Amino acid sequence: MSARRRRPAPPDPFDPGAVEVRRVQPYQANKAYTCPWCHRELPRGLGHVVVVPYGAADLRRHWHHGCWQKRVRVG
Ligand SMILES: [Zn+2]
Repeated sequence: MSARRRRPAPPDPFDPGAVEVRRVQPYQANKAYTCPWCHRELPRGLGHVVVVPYGAADLRRHWHHGCWQKRVRVG
């Protein structure tokens, strides 16, 4: 008898295993964003990463390269 009560958890926007990470090249950065890790600006023209939770593209966030690396390491 197996209880199938587990529901899929909503994607955690900060879980490196549940997100797709896309690189944004400097020429693709047409807008300024705020990094969710350091809360500083990602100015236009700066290459960075976009972190997109699987199945929740509207929760994507723009991170500095270095901040995302730190985040992944901290877990
Ligand atoms: Zn940052």
